Amino acid sequence: MARRMLVAGNWKMHGTAADLDAIGEIAMGAGDGCDVALCLPATLIERAARRHADFAIGGQDVHQADKGAHTGCISAAMLLDAGATLTIVGHSERRQAQGESDADVRGKAEAALAAGLDVILCVGESDAIREAGQAVSTVSAQLDASIPGSIGDPTDFSIAYEPIWAIGTGKIPSIDDIHEMHAALRGRLIAAYGEAGGAVRILYGGSVKASNAAEIFSVDDVDGALVGGASLKAADFLPIVEAARKS
Ligand code: PEP
Repeated sequence: MARRMLVAGNWKMHGTAADLDAIGEIAMGAGDGCDVALCLPATLIERAARRHADFAIGGQDVHQADKGAHTGCISAAMLLDAGATLTIVGHSERRQAQGESDADVRGKAEAALAAGLDVILCVGESDAIREAGQAVSTVSAQLDASIPGSIGDPTDFSIAYEPIWAIGTGKIPSIDDIHEMHAALRGRLIAAYGEAGGAVRILYGGSVKASNAAEIFSVDDVDGALVGGASLKAADFLPIVEAARKS
């Protein structure tokens, strides 16, 4: 099944008003031929979305509740109100530092999709799990426990396979290991959603840069990338977008 590539940047806790021009450079340079998005700190979403109405701006997390006593949290309606069209859920930095469980991640994904946000749901193994030869079984189980019961339009929902040990380290799995994992996750998505599971995009994330993007994008069932460090500057990010467009 043909799937349109998606390259999404995750700015994490980086960016102030001084970076709005860098966001503009990326938004203007994104072009056609693949989907491109930037998931920004909450404080920048509205300003970036107002300046670049045709460019996809996202959040990095969302709360599962509509509203209430959740100090410091942001609901799906608030993200939409600020101009976001998508959100990341279940990033390993949140699973680890905020203790988010698979059930939490599922709730966040369901709330975001129900509100009309596209979702990028992250899964990935630690280096100890990879070393123990349990990466595929562990990440498959994590996916099964984290994905929503139903997803509506499958093109609104993406998975990001992000090995924890590859995030921000410059290390990436072998091409064979990426292929094995993405094929396994595709199988789980089809088991969960039938034919629609074939239309869900599976992104790879973890130390993607201009020099390795084309090879990663050549792998079956790699439908784009979630990019951290290399998404902060147009000069680093746009060549990755270009590699996706050409793949
Ligand atoms: C991420 O944190 O989602 C990520 C992929 O980071 P990096 O590209 O910096 O490894």
